[in-house]
Amino acid sequence: MQKEASFLHIKVQESDPFRRGQYIGERVSDKINGNVEIYKKVFMEYANVDWDTVRKTALQYVEPIQNYAPELLEELKGMAKGSDLDLTDLIALNTRSEIMYAYTQRVIPECTSFALSKNNMKNQHVVIGQNWDWKTEVKGNTIIMEIEQSPYPSIIMIAEAGHLCKVGFNSAGIGLCTNMLFSSLDKAEIGVPFHVILRKILNSSTFNEAVRAVTLPHRAFSGNYVIANDKGNVINLETGPGGKENVHFLGLDEGILGHANNFINETHFQDKTLEFLPDSPARASNIKNELSKFPQLSIENIQDALRNHINFPNSICCHEEPVNKIQTIASVIMDLTEKSMTIAPGPVCQNSFTKVFPDFSQAE
Ligand SMILES: [Zn+2]
Repeated sequence: MQKEASFLHIKVQESDPFRRGQYIGERVSDKINGNVEIYKKVFMEYANVDWDTVRKTALQYVEPIQNYAPELLEELKGMAKGSDLDLTDLIALNTRSEIMYAYTQRVIPECTSFALSKNNMKNQHVVIGQNWDWKTEVKGNTIIMEIEQSPYPSIIMIAEAGHLCKVGFNSAGIGLCTNMLFSSLDKAEIGVPFHVILRKILNSSTFNEAVRAVTLPHRAFSGNYVIANDKGNVINLETGPGGKENVHFLGLDEGILGHANNFINETHFQDKTLEFLPDSPARASNIKNELSKFPQLSIENIQDALRNHINFPNSICCHEEPVNKIQTIASVIMDLTEKSMTIAPGPVCQNSFTKVFPDFSQAE
């Protein structure tokens, strides 16, 4: 059985959040510091803001994180110590979306997500996944993390080194995919940052707890959250910043959900992503069409769908273009029933997938 994928795969077993963060910080210090250097350039290029200003802005998020998930603030403190950085550097990495749009209205990222019901799979498993698209230079600093963190569920995820979370699933059978969204309400609100909410979802023991991780806090920024569990519950939450009033729900349609970077629900605020990413609705419908081609799908059928090139280079399989230098960083398929992650570095048309079983999957 394949145990490692093509990204650096680290494992940490530590119930103390500070020591957990410190271990991660020491283990991937070079990659976390590498990401700080990349984001210094990105902030300067996109928003003309220097890193000192970014760090000062990041300080405003300490209190909301402390109130929402004190253990995650401790983990960030540990990560800072382990990687010889300041806490503000780590908070800045984890609030990069919020801070970026405090200074500029430019939108850069893309992603295409999906979720499938058991009945849409030949093996009758619950499967979710996505192509995660982002700055090409971040690919070398992207890692797979397995975290054993009693009393919270164990997690496997793929994330940028220094981030608390991105895409993954946990030992309670809860899986998470995400897409960047941007609305007219996004005006540098102080609240709980997007990447902190992602981790709280995967720290949840039940489906309802995972949904409440999104709906209850005062969120700092818009975002799309695909949350599913191994029992077949699937929900998509499209959110603006703020509270419950800015959460919009979607479910499966004929057993399939496809989502990109635009709001699908009617909202009382404006969907700003569409101005910058006009290809987004096409990617959302293309992934759905590709996954509707067979009455029941194999993992290989899903891999083919994630290699789709309609609207190239802004396709589901996203290739770097000269302006934003965005590409698919990783293509991730998560089987929540058998607790496996099938993953390929992007662009996925050029790379093969590797299936990884986390230790908590084999322990069952
Ligand atoms: Zn491709």
